[in-house]
Amino acid sequence: MTLQIDNVSKRYGDATVLEPLSWSAEKGEILAVVGPSGSGKSTLLHLINLSTRPSTGAIYLDGEDLTALGRRQLRDARRKIGTAFQSAALFQRRTVNANVSLPLDYLGVEKNEARAQTARLVERVGLADRADFYPGQLSGGQKQRVGIARALALNPHVLLADEITSGLDPVTTASILDLIKALRDELQLTVVLVTHEMDVVRAVADKVLYLENGKVVEYDTAAALLRDPASHVGSQLLNWGQ
Ligand code: ADP
Ligand code: MG
Repeated sequence: MTLQIDNVSKRYGDATVLEPLSWSAEKGEILAVVGPSGSGKSTLLHLINLSTRPSTGAIYLDGEDLTALGRRQLRDARRKIGTAFQSAALFQRRTVNANVSLPLDYLGVEKNEARAQTARLVERVGLADRADFYPGQLSGGQKQRVGIARALALNPHVLLADEITSGLDPVTTASILDLIKALRDELQLTVVLVTHEMDVVRAVADKVLYLENGKVVEYDTAAALLRDPASHVGSQLLNWGQ
């Protein structure tokens, strides 16, 4: 079991943003987290990538409880988790190469090694001929490719993706999702993909977690939900695209 969420909840002051929830994702599995705006999807990713602490519960990665780690161990654990953000969140005054190598520079990875890893990733996401471009000179899909390459810079086991296809046209969306699936296969990544788009779920998800107001309404394999038209996700998966 790569990633296990055990009774995790999140409160901000008096507001409960996530009720206690539990789920797990295996190596090589894509879990889609779906739900309306404000349902707690991004908060869930922030908990997994350790940018915020859960109010209750534990998060296990490769069997290790991330919520119990000291500072130094936490820094090492963070390297195993890469995040690709909504709108890519690139640094506008840095080139494609410089954006991708940021996590490597930050950790003081040796220059030649960082350069080789960056070149490999930029090439892998199909942007070798754009390596010296700035984000402002890229299309939306290309920006997301840069964000994905940057998320993979430290060879993580887990890739978190927050609305990485929102605002993209269907053809570009499909190409980004194909890239995610190919990388999952090549690197045996566990992927947690947040989206509000049911056609994205249908295209990539092995499992689906459906959230509403911080509560898990449905959690099952995409195949099982698809077969169950009485489920919320199932009914939408059946209706969408028809
Ligand atoms: P989603 O990504 O599904 O749209 P979010 O996880 O961003 O939802 O937000 C869920 C809820 O948590 C929202 O009501 C939001 O206002 C609240 N929230 C998120 N971050 C914070 C924070 N740092 N402080 C207080 N409330 C927050
Ligand atoms: Mg969000």
